[in-house]
Amino acid sequence: MSEEIKGIGAPDGWETSGEITIVSPSGFHARPAAILVKTAKKFTSEIKLVRGDKSQNAKSLVSVMGFALQQGDSVSIIAKGPDAAEAIKALVPIVAGNMEESAPGDSRDAPAPPAASAAKPAEKSECGQAASSGGGSVFRGITASPGVAIGRAKLIVRGEIEVSEEAGGPPGAEEASLRRAIAEAKSQLEAIEERTRKTLDAGHAAIFGAHIELLEDPELEECALAGISEGKSAAYAWKSSYKAQAERFSNLANELFAARAADLEDIGRRVLRILTGHADEADYWEDSILIALDLTPSDTATLDKRVLGFCTVKGGATSHISILARSLELPAIVGIDESVLGIKDGAPVILNADDGVLEVDPEPAEADRIRKKQSELADRRARDVRDTMKPAVTKDGRQVEVAANIGGVSDATQAASLGCDGVGLLRSEFLFLGRSEPPSEDEQAEAYIGIAKALGPDRPLVVRTMDIGGDKPIPYIKQEREDNPFLGVRGLRLSLAMPDIFETQLRAILRASEFCKLHVMFPMVSTIGEFRAASSLLRRLNDGMGSRDVKVGLMVEVPSAAILARHFADEADFLSIGTNDLTQYTMAADRGNPKLARIADGLDPAVLAMIKSTVDGARGKGCWVGVCGGIAGDPLAIPLLIGLGVDELSVSVPAIPQVRARVRELSLSECERMASHALELDSADEVRSYVKKSLGGGE
Ligand code: PEP
Ligand code: MG
Repeated sequence: MSEEIKGIGAPDGWETSGEITIVSPSGFHARPAAILVKTAKKFTSEIKLVRGDKSQNAKSLVSVMGFALQQGDSVSIIAKGPDAAEAIKALVPIVAGNMEESAPGDSRDAPAPPAASAAKPAEKSECGQAASSGGGSVFRGITASPGVAIGRAKLIVRGEIEVSEEAGGPPGAEEASLRRAIAEAKSQLEAIEERTRKTLDAGHAAIFGAHIELLEDPELEECALAGISEGKSAAYAWKSSYKAQAERFSNLANELFAARAADLEDIGRRVLRILTGHADEADYWEDSILIALDLTPSDTATLDKRVLGFCTVKGGATSHISILARSLELPAIVGIDESVLGIKDGAPVILNADDGVLEVDPEPAEADRIRKKQSELADRRARDVRDTMKPAVTKDGRQVEVAANIGGVSDATQAASLGCDGVGLLRSEFLFLGRSEPPSEDEQAEAYIGIAKALGPDRPLVVRTMDIGGDKPIPYIKQEREDNPFLGVRGLRLSLAMPDIFETQLRAILRASEFCKLHVMFPMVSTIGEFRAASSLLRRLNDGMGSRDVKVGLMVEVPSAAILARHFADEADFLSIGTNDLTQYTMAADRGNPKLARIADGLDPAVLAMIKSTVDGARGKGCWVGVCGGIAGDPLAIPLLIGLGVDELSVSVPAIPQVRARVRELSLSECERMASHALELDSADEVRSYVKKSLGGGE
């Protein structure tokens, strides 16, 4: 419920922050809003967020998000009470700077295949339900988490919980039962949060911490209490309150707000079940494969060992549930056709998430085949880990470097223990995000040196300079609003536009050169001029710091860099192909949009042609070429990348043993033949089928 504020300034007796402009291209969305509310609650003063003549309670997530603040919107914070000035001081940077925490489980090159590699169809293409393969029906979707499972379908169907409108007793009694139900829901959530922290990690447990915040939201409670005071039952008043707020969020055209609507539904139902005595919904078979329109975070908390995998109609490869499935190594498919909800509860099913397929009522022979495949996969995984220290050399002697994509020192330590040949991509922006000022040179140097030491003096370390901008704004850099930030001032363009911060970073990186084979890499380069400007700055700084041996290269993520790779290779020591972005810019398909997963496939012949152009451009110039995008870890892409002449595959840490093993099983001559054939095909689907067939249908 927003209130009217007269005039632009603060009302009498209130402190004000003055005007603050939202800088983040994604607006003031769920995560920063949650930080704001959490911080506001630490103060006793009354605090409001004001936009125009409307104000909202800054201690209510529902209210703050109800403003749906977008980039460029102006707001102010007003506060009244004993700690009003301190409150404003603490809250302004959150709103101004959009001090964001990273989502749990950043999945850019998680062990899962890239979204695009996932959407492998069965026979039919358009509607999502594919033809029968001889047994029952086959449905297809997008792989959220790879693997195969056999079990029985457990349909998660949520009917409406019916409630009676009229109160059974006086408002006081209804209010008391609502408060009891909220308290009970809170203790359930606390138990789930604790369990998740123990079985998974703090990042995933935080999802339930956020649920507790929502549960205690004053706006939700106020609306429900208003209903009770009008003579409604506690259940009716509560249901009306959370449904109204959830609907408000789902009507906002923003994926993050829609996710909050799902969270509200989740906590709303939990309280309603307690109020109405409905049983818990997680009543699984011993070998359940969950089939649902969508799964809520609460469902994820009940994913115990009886659940072997799941399929959902909604959700994308980057949704919470997909990230969680990957952390739990549970096979999962999302984006499956809605008709799947019509299958019989308890029907035998095979979930082949590797191929994005769910088969219902399979032939017994098919079930046997999958069981065999499951045990082979488990054996193979164990063997790959055991052999990981063996050199990654093809049968005919071609050595391929298998390096790691990392975000910090613990990744580096783990990668070294799994036998990585080096680090092909350190995403240095982790040091810059989620804070209100840039990290100092010393702070950065300490991080880079820590990583260099974890790798040791003989392994190369490729540090990518900050890849910021686009969808990753940082508060202490004021950027003008851009209509299309993905094509805006981001990556190296942004670094060059703020020389102080860039120079500080380069000096900090150079300080690690004493401890490892240091490589500096610039992201999102589109012209040779940008590369020259950055590399000459680096060389100048290096000259002033003792002229150590430091290699300089760039990421090939923009088609222009792939096409003109021969020019870049004249001046760079190495090129590393970022196929995640190269694919999205080549195919004009957002890499994070699950609906475009089949188009944004790095195995599209157009993307393969970009890779070929890059490798050909570098040939004979002493400039090595790596791939550090998600496809470097995709078993169907590995032979093509080797065949195209790539020298290094840089992959997520857990994928290292598997990728090294795949290299050892291949021969260069066969890879070259496959790559030149793949370049002649029409689509990524054709390429995938072809490689699969060539490898003996094995992957
Ligand atoms: C890429 O674009 O392929 C890449 C590795 O960079 P990021 O995923 O960090 O954008
Ligand atoms: Mg990139």
